[in-house]
Amino acid sequence: MKAAVLKDIGEVDVTDVPFPKIEADEVLIRVAVAGICGSDVHGFSTGLYEPGIVMGHEFSGTVADVGKEALKFKKGDRVTSNPVLACGKCSFCKAGKFNLCDDMGTIGITHPGAFAEFIKVPEQNVVAIGHTDFEKAAFCEPLSVVVHACEKSGIHPAEKCLVIGGGTIGNLLTRVLKLKGVEQVVLSEPDDFRRKIAQKYADAVLNPFETDPMDFCEKEFGQLPDVVFECVGLPATIQEAVQDVIKGGRVIILGVSTESVEMDFLDMMYNEKAIQSVFSCTHEFMEAADLIRSGAINPLDLATSRIALSEISGKGFKKLTGENHEIKILVNRFV
Ligand SMILES: [Zn+2]
Ligand SMILES: [Zn+2]
Repeated sequence: MKAAVLKDIGEVDVTDVPFPKIEADEVLIRVAVAGICGSDVHGFSTGLYEPGIVMGHEFSGTVADVGKEALKFKKGDRVTSNPVLACGKCSFCKAGKFNLCDDMGTIGITHPGAFAEFIKVPEQNVVAIGHTDFEKAAFCEPLSVVVHACEKSGIHPAEKCLVIGGGTIGNLLTRVLKLKGVEQVVLSEPDDFRRKIAQKYADAVLNPFETDPMDFCEKEFGQLPDVVFECVGLPATIQEAVQDVIKGGRVIILGVSTESVEMDFLDMMYNEKAIQSVFSCTHEFMEAADLIRSGAINPLDLATSRIALSEISGKGFKKLTGENHEIKILVNRFV
């Protein structure tokens, strides 16, 4: 079968790979839609992932076969999957912190992913989507990260929020914050198109290249933000997030940075600023799937391009590493 294999930094080849053989507790899925994640772009451009891997952890598809013990699903079922592969035995798993498992794997990072015609997944990771559109269902994974971040942030409705970054994560986060009743959410994003999309849900948007986020928040909120969500992953935006937050406030980091980030420690210390990073999700995948299935969150306006697997290098990864107005690129043809 065809799959996109990470060869080296900046190089992905669409090539023939062996057909996946399922174990008794696994489900074989014919991939219908697979989204390219910001972390895949890091994997492509910085060496964050090991070469040889088939990336792709945001996907949906149809059950093509089931193992002897995987009886919850049958051929033809429409599904998505949580990519977190947890051991279920370590102290973190026992505490429900599957994303911190001592022996954690991730589909599309440590195990073969969804930029392929077929993928095999443990039955316990598979989630039914019913009649939900495959494209919408491919957003369950990024949405689960956002729901997890909201939970970790301990946000309550009266708190003023600043979201830095209007990509898939920043945009989904804004929607979830509003859905959870947060009264005031401002989003900062330099790209006009991304800002226009964010405007539909955020209470206000700003271009950080034109307007100082601290001044903007002071005007909009009458104070600095109580919680700043960093959804970019650049050293400059992480520093910005810590600088912008109010005394005693929280900075929640969702963006992935492979570079070290210098911090003004005294500013954090004297002003009791807290930093909480968030990674992947735990039980929130089900909540995210519910939000998509019920239509409470509709992510389709974030899908800016649809490509074939054979185009994944040029029209996918290379495009996403350069200047572009893309938000989410979906692979929806696998021939
Ligand atoms: Zn992702
Ligand atoms: Zn574990």
